[in-house]
Amino acid sequence: MTGKVYLVGSGPGDPELLTVKARRLLDEADVVLHDKLPGPEIIDLIPEARREDVGKRAGGEWTPQEYTNNRLVELAREGKTVVRLKGGDPFVFGRGGEEMEHLAENEIPFEIVPGVTSTIGGPGVAGIPVTHRDHASSVSFVTGHEDPTKEESAVNWQALADTGGTIVVVMGVGKLPNYTKALLEAGMAPDTPVALIERATWPDMRVAMGTLDTIVNVRDEEGIKPPAITVIGEVAATREKVQEFLR
Ligand code: SAH
Repeated sequence: MTGKVYLVGSGPGDPELLTVKARRLLDEADVVLHDKLPGPEIIDLIPEARREDVGKRAGGEWTPQEYTNNRLVELAREGKTVVRLKGGDPFVFGRGGEEMEHLAENEIPFEIVPGVTSTIGGPGVAGIPVTHRDHASSVSFVTGHEDPTKEESAVNWQALADTGGTIVVVMGVGKLPNYTKALLEAGMAPDTPVALIERATWPDMRVAMGTLDTIVNVRDEEGIKPPAITVIGEVAATREKVQEFLR
């Protein structure tokens, strides 16, 4: 009998932000395939004998996506209940779509378990609402990590600047100089507030504040490292208004 694969979002890292369903599945699964993004607190909830790391390998190389896809099919064909645990929500920059398609092609039953995405929850816990009646009536989620082989930018920064809504960037620590420059060139004000939220909801979470023209220096001075979310737009300034009471 073929088993079943659950594509599960872990939320941003605080174990209390796992859904009740995700928590149950972590206990019940025969095998959990995960990378580092769910964070140490959540990964430590899974007994070592029942987990497989399909994230970065020793030496810094990523496990090929093909390996993960094939491993999911292989385990399900052995009749196993498999959890593919992903940081945040499985369908927000998580390659969950590709894995789901691979499962369907191989006739493996699966279920999607949404999670709290770091793109909304990360700014949220830092006191930054991604939309606000006075400041932003739209929000865009974009990747800051472009495929370097692409000739043209996959993200239309000019259009984002023109839209005037909140811009939330994932995988955007390294390329911060590139896209802040693109947004300035596209006509966004240099004093537009920008926040960097590092390891949101982890015990060692940090938030760094700046503007479109200072944030690269702030990143370097504070030594902000991935995983971090970049929030660009007036909403980012909300944090400073409420911070005193944000515990
Ligand atoms: N599926 C995930 C996003 C995966 S892409 C989600 O819905 O949240 C990986 C990027 O997500 C990281 O580079 C970082 O930008 C962001 N990210 C994920 N978890 C994070 C966290 N706890 N704190 C800050 N950024 C996080």
